[in-house]
Amino acid sequence: METESLFNEDWEPPSTTAMRPSPADGMNPFPITPSKSKVISISRRPRPAFRVGEAALEFRLRHFPDLPEALWNDWHWQVANRVTDSAALSRFLSLSEGEARAISSREGGLPLAVTPYYLSLVSPHDPADPLRRTVIPSPGELAAGPGEADDPLHEDGKSPVPGLVHRYPDRVLFLVTGFCSTYCRYCTRSRMVGHAQRKRLGRRDWEAAIDYIARTPSVRDVLISGGDPLTLSDGALSWLLTRLRAIPHVEVVRIGTKVPMVLPQRVTPALVRMLKGFHPLWISVHAAHPSELGPETAQALSRLADAGIPLGSQTVLLSGINDSVEVMKGLMQGLMRLRVRPYYIYQCDPITGSAHFRTPVERGLEILRGLRGHTSGYAVPSFVVDAPGGGGKIPLLPDSVRGWDNEGLVLENYEGRLFRYPDFRAGA
Ligand code: SF4
Repeated sequence: METESLFNEDWEPPSTTAMRPSPADGMNPFPITPSKSKVISISRRPRPAFRVGEAALEFRLRHFPDLPEALWNDWHWQVANRVTDSAALSRFLSLSEGEARAISSREGGLPLAVTPYYLSLVSPHDPADPLRRTVIPSPGELAAGPGEADDPLHEDGKSPVPGLVHRYPDRVLFLVTGFCSTYCRYCTRSRMVGHAQRKRLGRRDWEAAIDYIARTPSVRDVLISGGDPLTLSDGALSWLLTRLRAIPHVEVVRIGTKVPMVLPQRVTPALVRMLKGFHPLWISVHAAHPSELGPETAQALSRLADAGIPLGSQTVLLSGINDSVEVMKGLMQGLMRLRVRPYYIYQCDPITGSAHFRTPVERGLEILRGLRGHTSGYAVPSFVVDAPGGGGKIPLLPDSVRGWDNEGLVLENYEGRLFRYPDFRAGA
C-alpha cells in the first residue's frame, strides 16, 4: 500500500528497496471516526512524553475522548488522521457556505489536508480566523486573476533534473517530496504538492538530483524542501543527508519545513539525534501567525535548537492574516523567544487563485517601518519579492537614505526624524 512507507521507521535506502517517501494524498487508509472515538494503534512502542497545550487538550477530549495522550502525540497518528474532506471537516467546525463550495469545487487543485493538531488551533466557528484561512479552502482560490500563474517563479524552467531547481550560482533547491501533513492554501508549489500521481518523486529522481549536485562543484549549499521534508521517515532523511554530506563541495545543508507548526510531534528525540549528526545543518521554519507558537511548537523548536541547529524563519505576508505591524511584530518576537531568527517576510507569490491572500507591496514596507528600530534588529527580517519570471529574491527596503547635501548624507531614522552623517560625494 502506498502509505506504508511513511509509517515505516525502518525505511531502507533506495539501493535496497523501492523508495516511496510520500503517501498519496486522498488515500488515507485510516479514516477519522471521532463519533465512535475509534483509536488507531500504529505502534505499540512507548513514546516519549510531549507537551500538550490547552487548545489541543480540549480538542482531544471533546473529539477523541478515548484516545490516549501518547497516541495523540504520535506523529504517525496525526498524519494518518489528517482531515481531508468536507464530511470529516464538518465534524470539527461549522463550514461557511463559501468554504463548503470551495472544497467541493476544487478539481485537481491543491488538496485539503489538516492535521488534527493544527485543527485544534483554528476557530471552529469563525471563517475569518487567521489560522483557519491558511488551511481551509475559500472561494478566492477558485478564481484566476491577472498576472497569476501556476509556476510564477519559473522553477520548472530552472530545473536541470526533476525535483531540483538551480537558480543561483552556489546553491540548489532540492524538492524531495510532494507531501505535506497540512496544505497551506497559498502554497507557491501548489502545482506539485499533494499530487502524488502528477509529481511523485521516487528513487530515480533523488539519485539523479544527487548526481547533478555531485558533478556541479559550484553548488556549496543545498536547500532540501518540497513538500515538507520532515514528513519523510528518519531512515529516508538519514539516507539523503548521508549522500549529500558525502559530496565534498557541499558545505551546508538546509531544510525548509512547516512541521514544527503543523506537526510538532514529528520532532522526536530520535529525529533530532539523527539530524545532529549532519552539521552544519540549518533549518528554516515556515511560520504564519503568532497563534502557531503554542507549547507543542515551542517544544519542537527547543529540541532542534538544543541540537545546535541554527533556526531561521520565513513568513508569507497574507492579507487579513498577518498583514499588520502588531501581528507581525508578535510573530517575529515570538520566534526570537523560541531561538528562531526571523529571516524572510515574502510578498505572496502570484500563484493562480491567490488574489485574496495578496497585499499591496507597500503594506510590507509599512510593516518593516513598524519593526525597524521598534524592536530588536534580530527580530527584523528581510522583506523580499520573489520576482515573477524567475528573477530570484529581491529585497525591498523602506527608504532611509534621503540624499546628500553640502553637509553630508541625510538619513531618516525609525521615528521619521532626519540626521546627517559626514559622508560627502565627489563634487557635491
Ligand atoms: S508546508 Fe510549504 S510546501 Fe507544504 S503546503 Fe505549506 S507552503 Fe506548501
